[in-house]
Amino acid sequence: MGIPQYFSTTYAEARQKFLEAARAAGAVSLEAHVNPNAKGANGEELALDVARFGERDAENLLIVCSGTHGNEGFCGSGCQIGLIKEGVIDARPRTVAMLLAHAVNPYGFSHVRRVTEDNVDLNRNFQDFSKPLPENPRYAEIHDLLVPSDWDGPGRAAAEAALAAWRDANGGMPAYQAVVAGGQYGFPDGLFFGGRRAAWSNETFRAIVKKHGAAAKRVAVIDIHSGLGPAGYGEPISILASEAPGFARAQGWWGEEVTSTSEGTSKSPPVTGPLIGSIEESLPGAEATAIGLEFGTVALPEVLEAIRGDNWLYARGLKAGLAIDSALARDIKTKIRDALFVDADDWREKVCARTADFALKAYRGLTSEISR
Ligand SMILES: [Zn+2]
Repeated sequence: MGIPQYFSTTYAEARQKFLEAARAAGAVSLEAHVNPNAKGANGEELALDVARFGERDAENLLIVCSGTHGNEGFCGSGCQIGLIKEGVIDARPRTVAMLLAHAVNPYGFSHVRRVTEDNVDLNRNFQDFSKPLPENPRYAEIHDLLVPSDWDGPGRAAAEAALAAWRDANGGMPAYQAVVAGGQYGFPDGLFFGGRRAAWSNETFRAIVKKHGAAAKRVAVIDIHSGLGPAGYGEPISILASEAPGFARAQGWWGEEVTSTSEGTSKSPPVTGPLIGSIEESLPGAEATAIGLEFGTVALPEVLEAIRGDNWLYARGLKAGLAIDSALARDIKTKIRDALFVDADDWREKVCARTADFALKAYRGLTSEISR
């Protein structure tokens, strides 16, 4: 089995490959957290699977996540299997335990969507819902244009013209990306919707981190994403300000390539409620060093367009009677798949090697004196 074979074309195939690889490599525990609220695209069970390697009371823990954004799991799952198959798990120091969280959002992975079964962008959902939620008034200006009445008729055409005019008047594509993708809490059928309460994937992930991180003094997290930046390059993204100790640590471990959403050095705009922001809340006694590892695919306008199309399909198209196997729906699904995964072996090899490199550097960081 070579590197390209670590990757799959369905969630069910990815799950099976992951479980087989983890079992064969001697995972000390394998947990299936079954989603009780949804089924897969082919009626299959949906689960967030967790494989643990290493001692129960290890003082260092490395967590690698895939599928926080659903079908971005086609990238992350293959990378996780690569960690197992290419000897990276076996290379870890004795004091480091490793946790692979496979398909954090299994619904989106199976249905080839970024969002959860509640149309929630899970990486905007790690909020304190007892407090007022962030506001995104500029999103409200363009919501109706982002989700037009039709996707291949006059409604879409009018929306495109109006969106182009909005971009011209408001700072172009960077401003558009920040408003659309930053996160919003006002429109449950809209894009990058952060939810009104913790999603199942959120609650489940927090419980996993609390359980498996209970004995850890130091925790590193690599949350694998795809869709932003140059094809095949993995941008290490911190959410911390440059003066935060966790940011300096991330750059010390992974190099000056580590960018920050809060400093504006990342391809990602600042986002509200990201998953890696929850680690310190879940494990207040541990030193957390967390990044998103964001692999580039295709150009940003294409990615945003594909996400819009998929949102339209579920918010409007299917509800109006459009069949999921119609030509229009199949075209939308092909585009959202291809926006977040590049079907080329050299891309698969690059993302796999980059993830391995980042895991090895995390071992070094977790066990080095400078981290203490
Ligand atoms: Zn993502």
